[in-house]
Amino acid sequence: QMSLLLTQFLDRAVHLYGRKPAIIDEHGKRYTYEEVNGRVNSLSFGLASLGVEKGDRVAYLAPNTLEMYEGFYGIFQVGGIMVSLNTRLKPKDYVYILNHSESKVLFVDHVLLNLIEPVRNQLETVETIIVHGLPEDKDGLIAYDSWLSSFPSTDFPRVELHEDDVSTLLYTSGTTGNPKGVMLTHRNNYLHALSTMHHLRVNDRDVLMHILPMFHVNGWGSPFYYTANGATQIMQKAIDPKVILEKVEKYGVTVMHMAPTVLQSIMDQYKNVNPKIDQNVRIVVAGSAPPKAFIRQLEEEIGWEFYQVYGMTETSPLSLASYISSEDEGASNDEYYKLKVKTGLEMIGTDVRVVDEFGNDVEKNGKEIGEVIVRGPGVMKGYWKDEAATKSTIINGWLHTGDMGTMDENHRIQIVDRKKDIIISGGENISTIEIENVIYDHPAVKEVAVIATPHEKWGETPHAIVVARDGHEVAGQEIIDFTRERLAHFKCPTIVTFMEELPKTASGKIMKVKLREFVSPAAKN
Ligand code: ATP
Ligand code: MG
Repeated sequence: QMSLLLTQFLDRAVHLYGRKPAIIDEHGKRYTYEEVNGRVNSLSFGLASLGVEKGDRVAYLAPNTLEMYEGFYGIFQVGGIMVSLNTRLKPKDYVYILNHSESKVLFVDHVLLNLIEPVRNQLETVETIIVHGLPEDKDGLIAYDSWLSSFPSTDFPRVELHEDDVSTLLYTSGTTGNPKGVMLTHRNNYLHALSTMHHLRVNDRDVLMHILPMFHVNGWGSPFYYTANGATQIMQKAIDPKVILEKVEKYGVTVMHMAPTVLQSIMDQYKNVNPKIDQNVRIVVAGSAPPKAFIRQLEEEIGWEFYQVYGMTETSPLSLASYISSEDEGASNDEYYKLKVKTGLEMIGTDVRVVDEFGNDVEKNGKEIGEVIVRGPGVMKGYWKDEAATKSTIINGWLHTGDMGTMDENHRIQIVDRKKDIIISGGENISTIEIENVIYDHPAVKEVAVIATPHEKWGETPHAIVVARDGHEVAGQEIIDFTRERLAHFKCPTIVTFMEELPKTASGKIMKVKLREFVSPAAKN
């Protein structure tokens, strides 16, 4: 019986699109799928020479580069497991993850070597460190380019695998605490890729710019489904709106995935460029929706379709996608944008429910709040070396997401908040996301996050932390008044604090844990 293996995606690209540009690197250098495949083969021979065998962990610490991309397929061919590391952690965090995952080989980009150097002697299992962009071997570090070129680029004899074998070990973002090691199998990643390529209508005319970091699950399903369809992939290291827009024009980018905050900064830049750039972007994908007015401007004025997705590392990652059927297209414009900001519907192959604390489905009225639970081929095998956490997260085959949502009569789900972030004030559940969406409509607001602050009478009260747009002055009371005109009064913030910037994870998510520490240490965490 045939197994679903991720190596099949690159094989397919080589067979069908071998001479097409596969990767455009940071310097604009192009590589065809055949060329990339040759490098992948060399990498597999190299890993085998280091003794990497089926099931061994190989770690990567790199921004979005060709070298990182070829790592995925090079490791899979020898039957290894890719461990991709978040580039914004502290040295001690790398010690934890590398030792916890018992990684045997570590690949590091030279620009990030300073994060590993100070803790090299604390790495218990790493036998070899190979550095991308290092001119020559030094201090026991191997220079990638010359090392790679010493191995043949001919077909590597594949190690036999089963689709239930783990392909990737990914640590969660750590938005709410310590990162957890999520084990995803070949089958998880494969079926997730099939479903996503359908939803995003990925095809061989697509030019994807990798903006989301590939080490993160949301960005990294991309090397699978864009490869399978022979798309061209541009490696983008830095999130610089000016550079990104220049490349959008230069390379004819058609698809981008990014955090809404990044999308916002690209749009701000877009409005400033004159004459307008010549561009072909057809779709931008983001987890969580920016305000309705923003989506309207994006779609009507700029012609970029906005596509919202929802997911988590534990589900490969995507479970919900915004979906507009041909019936909905006839809806009035306002209805259309109302659907657009809704988080979405279950993706093909995935079951999603919203349940109360006893595990019963909440009423499908778009109001009653419950926990979102997910079942399907994307659901992880479990947390690495943490059976207790696995057992309390996957119950009877259903993964408990820790996210709260509502479901309406048409099965559309709205994510309301994380269980840990939701504010309970005077016995009412308040969605911090709902308040944030309202405050984002204020013209002076660049970014906002709402957290709970203890309140004598109500238990908790919403506290808004705002970053003002450059050159805009706004008082806290004005923000409060603005929300009072638009929201039920019990939902309105009673405190507003201004900050220069908000603490974020590497994928651009606001870390409310950190905010609570900064602004309101007494609050729950
Ligand atoms: P950790 O689990 O370590 O605390 P994390 O949950 O941020 O970190 P990820 O797996 O990267 O790690 O993120 C998944 C989470 O992101 C979801 O559980 C959800 O809270 C949030 N999220 C993703 N998509 C959406 C969306 N469309 N709308 C609202 N929230 C979303
Ligand atoms: Mg999580």
